[in-house]
Amino acid sequence: MSSHERLEVECPSCRAKQDILIWKSINVTRDPEMKEQLFTGKVNYFTCSTCGFEGFISAPLVYDDMDKKICVNYVPVEYLEDDGYLQDSFTSDGLVRLVLHKDTAPIADTGYFRHAHIVFSMAELIRYVLFRDRLTQVFDAAQEQ
Ligand SMILES: [Zn+2]
Repeated sequence: MSSHERLEVECPSCRAKQDILIWKSINVTRDPEMKEQLFTGKVNYFTCSTCGFEGFISAPLVYDDMDKKICVNYVPVEYLEDDGYLQDSFTSDGLVRLVLHKDTAPIADTGYFRHAHIVFSMAELIRYVLFRDRLTQVFDAAQEQ
């Protein structure tokens, strides 16, 4: 499932506070429209209603394509300073630590999730997804011949 939360953020330019919807994960298999939103730069993008400042929010984002088994994690560079975040989110060898809550059904195939591709900018996240989609296209076409 895709998940989001509504948070009050402060504009980095004019300090005005406003509520914004922050996506923590997007599951493009269950919510295909979220992929469109991502590609058009509408996910975790902030536009200040006071001064017009705009830019991506520094919030980690998980991209999950269950069909193609593609998982990409965006880690804002600021989060590399956060020991707690790193320990909770990753293993020492850079795999994703799976945090399963009691009420979550066990995930059958988590291999691709654990080996998520890690990126450090939203632009790179989008580029990587485009790259994987192209690979799928090219190899599917080759198979049909
Ligand atoms: Zn502002």
